[in-house]
Amino acid sequence: MDLLSTLVDKGLRRELPTREEALAVLATSDDELLDVVAAAGKVRRQWFGRRVKLNYLVNLKSGLCPEDCSYCSQRLGSTAGILKYTWLKADEAAKAASAGVAGGAKRVCLVASGRGPTDRDVDRVSKTIEAIKDAHEDVEVCACLGLLSEGQAERLRSAGADAYNHNLNTSEATYGDITTTHTYEDRVDTVQRAQAAGLSACSGLIAGMGESDADLVDVVFSLRELDPDSVPVNFLIPMEGTPLAGDWHLTPQRCLRILAMVRFVCPDVEVRLAGGREVHLRTLQPLALHLANSVFLGDYLTSEGQAGRSDLDMIADAGFEVEGADTTTLPGHRVPSQEGCGAHEGGCAPCGEPSRATADEPAREAPTARTDLVAVRRRGAGTDLAPNA
Ligand code: SF4
Repeated sequence: MDLLSTLVDKGLRRELPTREEALAVLATSDDELLDVVAAAGKVRRQWFGRRVKLNYLVNLKSGLCPEDCSYCSQRLGSTAGILKYTWLKADEAAKAASAGVAGGAKRVCLVASGRGPTDRDVDRVSKTIEAIKDAHEDVEVCACLGLLSEGQAERLRSAGADAYNHNLNTSEATYGDITTTHTYEDRVDTVQRAQAAGLSACSGLIAGMGESDADLVDVVFSLRELDPDSVPVNFLIPMEGTPLAGDWHLTPQRCLRILAMVRFVCPDVEVRLAGGREVHLRTLQPLALHLANSVFLGDYLTSEGQAGRSDLDMIADAGFEVEGADTTTLPGHRVPSQEGCGAHEGGCAPCGEPSRATADEPAREAPTARTDLVAVRRRGAGTDLAPNA
C-alpha cells in the first residue's frame, strides 16, 4: 500500500502512523500536494464531516508579560507596537465575546498574557465566564491564562469553563531555544492539570520558528500522547519587535503539509487552523479547510486576521458549513455521554477509497516574506473600535 493509502487507512481507524510516515508527509513534493490534501481530507470528513467550528479570541490582558517566549509580541522586552492593557472588566469581555458569537462563534477563548494567573486573577476570570454564560448559555468558554497552579483548574471548571488552552508550541528538544523562563515540562504539567480537573484540553503548536521536520513530528506525536481534544496549529507571524522578526520559513504548500500531518497523527481531534493562516496560506486558505475542522474567526490576540465576513464567505464558497451550537464537535467516542461517532448521521463507515500518490521527490521551499500582510491589531477588546468579527 502506498504512503497516502496507508495513512488514510490508519486515520479512519484512529491508528497512530509511524514517525517515518509522518515525516514522509512533510517531504512530499508540490506535485503531490493535492493528493496529500485529498487523503487527509478523507480522514477529516470521517470524523467531522464538512463542519467548521468557529472560535473567537478575547484578549483579557494584553502585553507586559514577564516571560520571554521568542515568538510572542507580548513578551518581556518586546517592542512590537501592540495594544497594552490590564484586565478587561467582566462586562467588557462579555461584550467583546458577543461580537464573536454574533458572527457564529461556538467557542470563546479568554486569553491573558502572563506566566500564569494569581488566585485573584482566577476570581476575575470566573466572573467573566459567568457574565459570558449569562449572555450566551450555549457558548463554550475556553480559558488560556498560562501555567496553572494547584487547584486553579478546578476553580475555573467550577466557574463554568469548558476548556483550557496551553500549547506545547514546539518539540521538547528545541523548547529551550524558544523560551528560557519556563520549561516544556511546565507546559505539559498545565495541560495535565486541566485534563485532571475535567476541562477539555486544547494544546497545539507553532510552525515556522526554524524547527526541523523531525521537531514538528516530535511535537505532534507528543500532543497525540497528551491527547488534548483540540490541537491549534499556528504559523509564526514574525512580528517586528520580537526575536523572530524576519523569520519567514513557511510557504502555503508547507503549511498544508503540516496540517495534513497533524490530521493523520491526530485524526479524530479538533484540528484548529490558528494564527498566521492569512499571511502564510494566503490564497490557499480554503484548501486548509479540508484538513482543519476549526478556525478562529476574525482577529488574533495582537494581530489582525481577515474580516469575519470573509471567513464566513470562504467557508461557504469552499463547500463547508459552520457548525451549529446544537452539534457536538467531537466524535462520540471522545464524548463519553454520546453514542455513535458524532461525525455522521446514520453510521460511521469510512467515507471513500484512499487516493494514490507517490512520495519520491523532496519538497521545495521558497519562503517569500509578506511583511505587508502583518497588521497589528487595533480593534476589539481594549479599544474603542468595533471588533473584527
Ligand atoms: S506566550 Fe504567553 S507567557 Fe509567553 S511571552 Fe507571550 S503572553 Fe507571555
